[in-house]
Amino acid sequence: MTEEKTSVLVIYTGGTIGMTKDQRTGALVPFDFGNIYEQMPVLRNFDYRIDFHAFETLIDSSNMKPSFWISLARTIEANYENYDGFVVLHGSDTMAYTASALSFMLENLNKPVIFTGSQLPMGVIRTDGRENFLTSIEIAAAKEDNMAIVPEVAIYFENQLMRGNRTTKFNAERFNAFVSGNYPLLAEVGVHIRYNKGNILKPNFRKLKVHINLDFNVTILKLFPGISENIVRSTLSIPGLKALILETFGSGNAPTDPWFIGCLKEAIQSGLIIYNVTQCKSGSVEPGKYATGIELEHIGVIGGYDITTESALSKLMYLIGEGYSGQRLTELLQTPIRGEMTVV
Ligand code: ASP
Repeated sequence: MTEEKTSVLVIYTGGTIGMTKDQRTGALVPFDFGNIYEQMPVLRNFDYRIDFHAFETLIDSSNMKPSFWISLARTIEANYENYDGFVVLHGSDTMAYTASALSFMLENLNKPVIFTGSQLPMGVIRTDGRENFLTSIEIAAAKEDNMAIVPEVAIYFENQLMRGNRTTKFNAERFNAFVSGNYPLLAEVGVHIRYNKGNILKPNFRKLKVHINLDFNVTILKLFPGISENIVRSTLSIPGLKALILETFGSGNAPTDPWFIGCLKEAIQSGLIIYNVTQCKSGSVEPGKYATGIELEHIGVIGGYDITTESALSKLMYLIGEGYSGQRLTELLQTPIRGEMTVV
């Protein structure tokens, strides 16, 4: 009996990586992945079966919507049994949001879902897309003892593999566009791909469960010196709002003005979830550290430890969409469920 070849499905959603220069006009147009083997004959050197699935409407990821996350999760679900791994080609602007969302939506994921993109279009000579693309395929196909080495949602960009729900886009110019400020790299790529196996989630061998009931009544309020009562009150009184991510200073600190604490307290008492996430790209919320953080804890603001804003947003959408509330929701918001936070 011949052994089945390792198989990878490449899902193309849009973004810079999929662009090439039109020979005639010089304008950037979507790359035709339909004849990828003609455009990138090197793909034939992989001993894998590589198939392509392009979304009908290719988008700049600034147009990303949760409905698209649902289609993406559905696409992975529909093909899950037929492939060993998945590569998602996605614009870098909102890649950290989509990767975070997919990590929550795909429960019991036991296969790699590797997001990648590029800063320069695939059809440009100095593109970073080619290396990102080829290495992502290799990572999505990588196995040891017949098990995927990276059975989780990750982002591969410029020689670094990061846990998807730990990332933030922090650079619009350099090829290393992403940072994982609170979690070590899953792999580093040079001459070899060096997997940091101790940092990678372990498979649980359960059946994939796809969650698509997201609740979108979530918003973000970033604190800044001088934020007015009007702004805070208006945000808190958004009709239907169920949860607010409060992007605080440093280790979870906020103004202590009585009007500010009073507004938040009132909102919490009437059922709003307020989740404390730091504006810093690295480090954790520590409510007990400063007096300016303790006040928030006292009134019932939930500390998000070192979760990123991108991850907090989709975690809230997912948990509220799944019907969690009250004490259980608070507990889950302070517990890592997909490796998205470190609780110390
Ligand atoms: N605006 C593009 C996008 O996010 C940038 C990129 O692909 O890197 O779709």
